Amino acid sequence: MIEKRQFYIDGAWVDPVVAKDFPVIDPSTEEEVAVISLGDQADTDAAVAAANAAFPAWAATDPAERVALVEKILEVYNAHAEEMAQAMTLEMGAPISMSRSSQVTSGSWHIEGFLETMKDFEFVRKLNDHSPNDRIIMEPIGTVAMITPWNWPMNQVALKVIPALLAGCTMVLKPSEIAPLSSLLWTEILDEAGVPAGVYNMVNGDGPGVGSQLSAHPGIDMVSFTGSTRAGILISKAAADTLKRVSLELGGKGANLVFADADAKAVERGVRHMMQNTGQSCNAPSRMLVQREIYDQTVEAARQAAENTSVASAHEEGRHMGPLVSQMQWDKVQGLIEKGIAEGARLVAGGPGRPEGLNRGYFVRPTVFADVTNDMTIAREEIFGPVLSIIPFDTEEEAVRIANDTVYGLTNYAQTQDPERQRRMAHALKAGMVEINGKSRAKTAPFGGIKQSGNGREGGEFGLEDFLEVKAVGGYPAE
Ligand code: NAD
Repeated sequence: MIEKRQFYIDGAWVDPVVAKDFPVIDPSTEEEVAVISLGDQADTDAAVAAANAAFPAWAATDPAERVALVEKILEVYNAHAEEMAQAMTLEMGAPISMSRSSQVTSGSWHIEGFLETMKDFEFVRKLNDHSPNDRIIMEPIGTVAMITPWNWPMNQVALKVIPALLAGCTMVLKPSEIAPLSSLLWTEILDEAGVPAGVYNMVNGDGPGVGSQLSAHPGIDMVSFTGSTRAGILISKAAADTLKRVSLELGGKGANLVFADADAKAVERGVRHMMQNTGQSCNAPSRMLVQREIYDQTVEAARQAAENTSVASAHEEGRHMGPLVSQMQWDKVQGLIEKGIAEGARLVAGGPGRPEGLNRGYFVRPTVFADVTNDMTIAREEIFGPVLSIIPFDTEEEAVRIANDTVYGLTNYAQTQDPERQRRMAHALKAGMVEINGKSRAKTAPFGGIKQSGNGREGGEFGLEDFLEVKAVGGYPAE
């Protein structure tokens, strides 16, 4: 049994003020594999005080010094890659091969992206060529609270901690209590890389505890949150009394528009993307909108793709799908599959219960529903499981209307060979991101949503600017 009850405050591992044990469960076996402690107000206060005290000196460092530190973090992170892959597989059930090839590398990919951004990032800028005495100074916002989910642990943590460090902010990270092992290792990595005391702090805890305490804390200048829309609303309310900045990356209900001229791999690609990480991705293309001419063949291809998706323990090598993260998530996904059947959607693959031969672990069947209408619960709610809903459409206008008829707006997808239609889709789909024909976005592209998918942008230049205040100066001496 792994015992990791300590927090990282002011450059040292410290015991919780009051011990509050919390188990970490391996989703592949349902066994308790580790114990952490949940923090309380006194732990939160100590971490915030350390970060506040470290801020003036860290904010005043030369950006080159901060870049050198992040380069060192990348080196140490890469040296611990295997350990990190094992930690995520154990805590949240990503299959080990996928943990190595995607979960771990998503963290290093973003670190590399921010280092690239820093090469020509200007903290002091001219306003324009006509105002010689005006300057824009980009200054670190202060002490940032970071609250992260369990589904892409290092992706989320790197997208917050790295730009905050580069901006000159200090911080307190509260990772998901369900998947804290990767963040504990991440903290050891930052310590080994030599982050100055107090600049980076980490306290474990749950939402009602440390999460809410950080959101309301007068010593916190900004909350950077990734997680559910439900928690995003609660955090925004808790943060309102101190008017701190709140950056939100929330849920999604992505539409994937498959037109009659889609390429031959489009359907299989869409199903595979849906099943990746057992459907536990905020940008999952969970509504497949299919043009009527190719509807029947698409449903059949989707059925085959789902049935070809094997399911097995996260500890086995291979390209299979692992379990869901928890009993709670398993119950929620089962409930929504039942609801899909009850509301009249046609089940074409998967369905309720565990896959054959797997009677322990939070495993679910890769599931496809056809003849879904956009008012059904499975088309409206984020399921966060491997459940695809297929909805037919006749015209492009109808497809865009259905795609945009959701409270979310994170990522939408379009599959078509027609360049004119590709351009129209890029503009018409209401979301923070649009991906055409399976082309994902570049390393430094901003990740984020609109509507109830949030308001933040993470990654690259936009992601760095999220942690900076804009100061406008007049009368600056001309060069
Ligand atoms: P969650 O909202 O339950 O928890 C996320 C984090 O918030 C955890 O650390 C949790 O302890 C904390 N938290 C919960 N309630 C809180 C409260 N009242 N105050 C402060 N903190 C609180 O989400 P989850 O189940 O861990 O993650 C899944 C969700 O995350 C999905 O909805 C998914 O779409 C979303 N997500 C979004 C993105 C994105 O970039 N848009 C990326 C990944 C995941």
